[in-house]
Amino acid sequence: MTMRAGAPAPHLLVVGIDGVRYDTLLAAQTPHLDLLAADGVLLPVEVHARNSTMSGPVWATVATGVYSDRHGVLGNDVHPAELREYPDFLERLRAELDDATTMVAASWFPIAGDHHCGPLFSSRGWLPDVDPETQPDVAAASDAADDDVAAYACARLGQEDVVASFVYFGEPDEFAHHKGTGAGYTASIERCDARVGRLLEAISARANSGGEAWTVVVVTDHGHVDNGGHGGDSTHERTAWMAAAGPGIGPHIGRLCHADIAVQAGKVFGLDFEGLDGVPFGHR
Ligand SMILES: [Zn+2]
Repeated sequence: MTMRAGAPAPHLLVVGIDGVRYDTLLAAQTPHLDLLAADGVLLPVEVHARNSTMSGPVWATVATGVYSDRHGVLGNDVHPAELREYPDFLERLRAELDDATTMVAASWFPIAGDHHCGPLFSSRGWLPDVDPETQPDVAAASDAADDDVAAYACARLGQEDVVASFVYFGEPDEFAHHKGTGAGYTASIERCDARVGRLLEAISARANSGGEAWTVVVVTDHGHVDNGGHGGDSTHERTAWMAAAGPGIGPHIGRLCHADIAVQAGKVFGLDFEGLDGVPFGHR
């Protein structure tokens, strides 16, 4: 597409943070997400009835803009043939935007690689050297892996014109599974907020940041029960959330769904991704 001369160049960053309960998020100290919400919107997001409260199905919906009855990801183990019919929003953007550079970086290997239900993002992407789920202390390994993901993403955001990205942090989900949803879980969410802060700092420091219009979306996939665990239909498990800021995004938006992200990704660049289950932000 051709941008009007002088118009800010659109850019998109979507950050996924796995398994962050909405009530815990609100109680946690998250200054970077608070600023994002103040600039735009923060809303609880109900995991759609067509998705289970599992990571694979919901992240596949974030990637593709369709629910599990279409993309076929029903759990975390199987990579279904149907998913290949639905390119992720980054692949769709590359197909429409000449020479667009996109990025996926993730600490949960099925997001970006041939692991279990993955790749959930057809673009694939960068993974740390060590899969935290293979380590003896998964929570600690996820903390380290998320730091590696943040460092990789910040370096690329600083050095390249990455116009659209998906960056994934998994520590809170692994912490809750292995150690429950107490104070340590809250601290793992606060560390992810700090990682979001590093990404936003890398964006602000970009050489041409004044000539760019950034849309930033931060989203979780599901909550957790008190002892850690998800997959059921309790309110804590079904209640996810999304924070977003950027052109056209503000408190007038009353409802958001996971499938909307892929459609909004197109809208950011003036594109209409048709035939998906989501709608642009503010259209519900
Ligand atoms: Zn998850």
